[in-house]
Amino acid sequence: MRDRLNEIGRAESKLGAFKAEVLAELSRRDSKSAAERAAREQLQSSRRDAQRDVEAAERLSALEETSQALGDGQIPVGHARLIARAASEGPIDQTFLVEAARHQGFDQFAKTMRRHQQEMSDDDGQSIHDRQHNNRTARAFTSRETGMFILSSEFDPVTGAKIDTALAIKERELWNAEDPNARRTPQQRMADALAELILEPEKGKAHGTALMVVADYDVINQELINARLADSTPIPMDELVRLACDADLLPGVFRAATQEMNLGRKRRTASDRQRAALIYRDKQCIGCGASAHRCFAHHVQFWRNGGPTDFANLVLVCNKCHHNIHDEHWQVTRNSQTGRWETKPQPDPFPDCGASSSRSYERNAILIS
Ligand SMILES: [Zn+2]
Repeated sequence: MRDRLNEIGRAESKLGAFKAEVLAELSRRDSKSAAERAAREQLQSSRRDAQRDVEAAERLSALEETSQALGDGQIPVGHARLIARAASEGPIDQTFLVEAARHQGFDQFAKTMRRHQQEMSDDDGQSIHDRQHNNRTARAFTSRETGMFILSSEFDPVTGAKIDTALAIKERELWNAEDPNARRTPQQRMADALAELILEPEKGKAHGTALMVVADYDVINQELINARLADSTPIPMDELVRLACDADLLPGVFRAATQEMNLGRKRRTASDRQRAALIYRDKQCIGCGASAHRCFAHHVQFWRNGGPTDFANLVLVCNKCHHNIHDEHWQVTRNSQTGRWETKPQPDPFPDCGASSSRSYERNAILIS
C-alpha cells in the first residue's frame, strides 16, 4: 500500500506538471482569462481554483528546474506551487529549494521556504514583512450553505502572534472555569474566546500576555541576529526592535542561568524563565505541534513519582497531549537523532486488528485545532 501511495504521489506530480504546461500554453497563445475559462469548462474547476491554477502555471513556466522536478515526479505539486509563489515575491535559489522539496514534508518545507526567503532578501526580510502586512485582510459574512456567521482573516506573522497569544490566554481562562466533566472542544473554546474578546472587551486584557521573540547574539560583532517568533518564523530585526520598545523583556541567556533552571522539588510549576526556555527549545507542543501559547510544562518523570522541576525534566505539551500522556499512557521520549522530545502511543497490544489506525487518526485531529 505504501508503494502504491508513493506511485500515486509521483503520478499526481506528473499530472500537475502536465496541467501547468497546458494552462501556461493556453494563456500564452490567447490570454490569462481564456486559460481560466478553459480550466472552468474542461476541468469543471471553481472560479477560484481556475485562477489559482493558471497563476501557478504561468509562474512555473518560468522555472525550468522546478518544472522538470515536478514533471519527473520528484517533488509534490504543493511544493512546486510554493516555489513558484516565492519566485514571484523575490530572489530564490531554485536548486536549493528543489533539493529540499524532494525529501521534506509540506509543513517543514514551508518553514524552509520562509527561512530561505528571509536569507535571500537584501533587506533582512523587511520587504517580505511589509508585503505581508499590506496583504492583511478580513471578511465577515453569513454562509448561504449553513446560515452560520463566518469570520475569516489574515495577518502578518507578528500581529498574528500577538493575537494568538491573547486568544490562547483567554482560552486558558475559559478552560480553568470549565466543569472538567463537561469540557468544550478546543474549537468551541477558541470560538468562545474570540467572541468574548470582541464582545466583552471591558473584561480586559488577560494577565500574562507575553509575546515570545527570540534572537541570537553574535559575540564577534556584538549584535543581535536571526530574530524570530517562538515557532521559528523569521522576522526583520527592525520589527524586533519595535516590539522590544513596548515590551517587558525577560533576558533569556538561558545557559548562564542554570541555577534558576533547576528548581528541584522546591516548586511544582515551572517558573517564567523555565517556560521561556522551554518555548525556545521545544517551540510548540512536542506531541501535536499546537502553538506554544496553548502549552504548559509537563514533568517527564512525573512529579508524583519524585520528578524534579528541572529544565531537563520538563517538556512543552498542550492539554490534549497531556491527557494522552497521563490517561492513555503515551510515552515521552527523546529522539536520539534529532535530539527533540516526542510523544508516542503505547505499542499496540493487538497489532493485527488494525486498532493503531484510529490512534494515529486521533493524533492528526489535533492538528486541525
Ligand atoms: Zn499537543
